[in-house]
Amino acid sequence: MLYGAIEAGGTKFVCAIGDKSLNIKERVSFPTTVPEETMQQVIDFFTPYKDELSAIGIGSFGPIDIHKDSTTYGYITTTPKLAWQNFDFVGTLKKSFDVPVEWTTDVNAAAYGEYSFGKGKGLSSVIYYTVGTGIGGGAIQEDRFVEGFSHPEMGHMLITPHPEDEFKGNCPFHGSCLEGMAAGPAIEARTGKKGQDIPADDPLWEKEAYYIAQCAYNTTLLFSPDVIIFGGGVMKQRHMVEKVHQAFEKMLNNYVQTPNIKDYIVTPALEDDAGIFGCLALARQVNLNSKR
Ligand code: ADP
Ligand code: ZN
Repeated sequence: MLYGAIEAGGTKFVCAIGDKSLNIKERVSFPTTVPEETMQQVIDFFTPYKDELSAIGIGSFGPIDIHKDSTTYGYITTTPKLAWQNFDFVGTLKKSFDVPVEWTTDVNAAAYGEYSFGKGKGLSSVIYYTVGTGIGGGAIQEDRFVEGFSHPEMGHMLITPHPEDEFKGNCPFHGSCLEGMAAGPAIEARTGKKGQDIPADDPLWEKEAYYIAQCAYNTTLLFSPDVIIFGGGVMKQRHMVEKVHQAFEKMLNNYVQTPNIKDYIVTPALEDDAGIFGCLALARQVNLNSKR
């Protein structure tokens, strides 16, 4: 019995095969091009395992349709990646592999990975953000993803500009929302440099921490979660965590008593593997549910 995992990112796809204990037997990664080509690579990867494959978990870039009763369930919907607009992801996969499929957002999958194996293990309310090319957030409450008419889009929350920040934001929809001010491309637009090339003592990081802290503040007051996990490329700047803690405590001003800050606002235990392990755990879960 094997489980399949697909982490479908806007820049690259990761596919993996896991055994029944979710140990990865094989994994591949390839760039996201057009659906015809990329999906063929996905199918080619899983085909040798077809007879043993019991379920597939997918965490996809979005927005995506997650409503099981919708005619476009399993589609990527209004993505800015034109070739992928209104693409029937789950339907395409099911034509080759007739197994139960769990379909969710890339951040939800990463949240599930941390919830199953990482900093969210054993907790009931887990929030995960990725701060990378964009900012996305996923929330798990009592074993379920928080969702309503659609999945959350927490990365686009409104935030207050830092008093010394003149950057106006680059979100095409909202300008100075969190993603428009604090994702990797906003750092690059502001400084002309990629985040990885900016030294730890640059004042930019105080501003960045101020925005991430506002995200943690809003998240705290909305969900009172057990943990808030910040992953993604920008959070590789580990010195940021302490800056975020300080800014957060100042903003919150002891209004509520959160868990100990060091265990409350954290980076992922699984690092860049949160997503792929989350997809595997989702495959195991959907397989269990299909037998009930
Ligand atoms: P994606 O969001 O595309 O899946 P990442 O999470 O790696 O991928 O995010 C990429 C963004 O993170 C880019 O804008 C990049 O400049 C930035 N980034 C990557 N590594 C670092 C780093 N060490 N420090 C700061 N920013 C980084
Ligand atoms: Zn926005």
